[in-house]
Amino acid sequence: MANILDGKKLAQEIELVLKQTIESGLKVVKRSPGLAVIRVGNDPASGVYVNYKEKACDRIGVRSFPQHLKEDISMEELTEKIKILNLNENIDGILLQLPLPSHLNESLLLSGINPDKDADGLHPLNLGRLIKGEKGPRSCTPAGVMALLKRNEIKIEGKRAVVVGRSILVGKPMALMLEAANATVTIAHSKSEDLNFLTREADLLVVAAGKPHLIGENHVKENSVVVDVGIHRIPLNEDNLNESQKFKLCGDVKIFEIEDKVAAYSPVPGGVGPMTVTMLLANTVDRWQKHCGLPLTISHLLP
Ligand code: NAP
Repeated sequence: MANILDGKKLAQEIELVLKQTIESGLKVVKRSPGLAVIRVGNDPASGVYVNYKEKACDRIGVRSFPQHLKEDISMEELTEKIKILNLNENIDGILLQLPLPSHLNESLLLSGINPDKDADGLHPLNLGRLIKGEKGPRSCTPAGVMALLKRNEIKIEGKRAVVVGRSILVGKPMALMLEAANATVTIAHSKSEDLNFLTREADLLVVAAGKPHLIGENHVKENSVVVDVGIHRIPLNEDNLNESQKFKLCGDVKIFEIEDKVAAYSPVPGGVGPMTVTMLLANTVDRWQKHCGLPLTISHLLP
């Protein structure tokens, strides 16, 4: 029977630590941690994620500075907005919710965030720090995967890890974090030949391809560990369903095919998703401690 990597439960445990950290910090300093999540336009999936993030802030005592901006905002206007948030002393973390509308230059905008307030670790300086193995804010989703593996005592050192996907948001930082933890890492992508040959080599397989049910039984090695980062809303064509029942969530992995073959896997929902939100909170609280001159007590939660 495979071990389930329960991200929901771990996220709750970490949130409790963060809440207590904020409460004890507020005995010394006068302001709560602040997080600004920038959402541009009305992409429904982004709306759902931003909503989760704002609710999570409320639960643990992080002050939210919601920035819901119009779809046709110009580069100049958004750059200016980011500059203002950089200068706001009540804000410790800034996150630019991706994807952005196509007229905006994601890379330039991410570079405009103060690297010290970079809550998703995507500023070039922080990506450079990741490559060099230096401390700095780390991208939330791969950081959440690392925390999930650590909590479940999954051995990484010396293991063969395969990451499917090479995006700057997930795949690349994931591969670098696993390599920093002494795995031997292969990155697969849409041009890789013989995907299932590569993935079957993996003791640890992390799938972030954004393709529903890409990975099945023939892609995984017996007794391996599989982490499913993908998340998809699949519409259900049935009558008499209310709004929340009209779709089901699935990942990039056919869990029903692999669950009897592998040693452990992360479910969708309830695996990586909740951990992403929690690591965003952890990055923000860590930044707050730094900005307020408090002892850095939660560094062990971050990769
Ligand atoms: P992305 O930017 O679209 O990148 C997808 C990557 O997968 C690309 O590198 C692509 O290769 C590769 N790929 C696509 N099809 C493939 C195939 N058939 N075989 C092998 N590789 C393939 O997506 P992303 O932002 O990294 O996100 C990936 C997934 O994770 C999405 O489902 C997203 O919704 C989910 N996600 C979940 C969370 C969470 O909190 N759970 C957070 C972030 C993202 P190329 O580079 O060659 O195009």
